[in-house]
Amino acid sequence: MTIEPDSMFEPTDHESLLAPYAMHSRHSRGRRYPEGEHPYRPIYVRDRDRIIHSAAFRRLAYKTQVFVDQPNDHHRTRLTHTLEVVQMARTIARRLRLNEDLTEAIALVHDLGHPPFGHAGERALDQLTQSVGGFEHNAQGLRLVEKLESRYPHFPGLNLTREVLDSISLHSKQSMGSGENLSEEFPSMLAESQVVDLADSIAYSTHDIDDAIRHQIITSGDLRALEIWRWADERCEEVYGEDLVGKQRTRGVIRCLIDGQVGGLIDESRARLAGMRSTDEVRRQRSPVIALPSELGRMKSELREFLFLRVYRSEVVTKRTREGEELVGRLFEEIRRRPSLLPEKYHRPEEPFERGVADYIASMTDRYAEKTWREMEA
Ligand code: MG
Repeated sequence: MTIEPDSMFEPTDHESLLAPYAMHSRHSRGRRYPEGEHPYRPIYVRDRDRIIHSAAFRRLAYKTQVFVDQPNDHHRTRLTHTLEVVQMARTIARRLRLNEDLTEAIALVHDLGHPPFGHAGERALDQLTQSVGGFEHNAQGLRLVEKLESRYPHFPGLNLTREVLDSISLHSKQSMGSGENLSEEFPSMLAESQVVDLADSIAYSTHDIDDAIRHQIITSGDLRALEIWRWADERCEEVYGEDLVGKQRTRGVIRCLIDGQVGGLIDESRARLAGMRSTDEVRRQRSPVIALPSELGRMKSELREFLFLRVYRSEVVTKRTREGEELVGRLFEEIRRRPSLLPEKYHRPEEPFERGVADYIASMTDRYAEKTWREMEA
């Protein structure tokens, strides 16, 4: 076997395979602090690497997705959720000839700004910071990658490309008091960003079914009430035959639920993207270019409603999230009462003290928040 010398490959060679509606790195709007090109890593690969090497990314391993601190450790955390989104989004991007590197970076960063204890933690921080602009996880994600991560000598944050920053800010409903109107400053979404959105929602709706069954909050029998479940069950029977029963059957149906939705999404999106000549054309569209077929979209909304009613608002989930919410409140009040408890790096003289407290608490993992509270109480 002969090994080709490195110089035979151009780092951006694979971009010649991209569709005209994909984001090509040579058209990037660049970084806030200009940097030279890397000898062998294209710009979005560098973005991806910076996200993976950030402290905030590592902390996702110990942050709640939906199920807090359960007796076993099989359920998803924010990190494993993120990885499921990444692999699904990359598969879709590759099939649609979108920029897979950019898609991967966007998927890796999409939940970076989440505080401990999932949406309960977010709700608590939002209420506590109302006087200084509130708290929202996308806006916090932007703060992390623009200001708070501190690893590079020449700039604050990670200095990511504008395309990755856009993907975060376009999801943000509020700017948390920075005064910037985020959605006006940025153009509308690239197809790569839309792929991550849908991959996120397919991932969480299916893995939350799986986790909820494991925690005996729902049964596979309950799910039979849903059209999408029966649709996936039929597919499962086609693939594995009628004899598959019990847990294996449920797992088979969940697999078919993911596979069927991803397949449907690829077909529908390919039809919507056909004939588009540029990313500008994608951004000008009034409706998404990445979508499920309408029938499947309708069935999926029904599943989402079911999850809200039966899982997210179930006693098992809300009891633990309420405890998390209260803990966030107690930490916040205690630091406000004794400002010396706030580590030096979170004192930013140009911003209100409360913003620093929110940054500190948002950075915590579930277990670190609990440990910090025990120490404060002692
Ligand atoms: Mg997510």
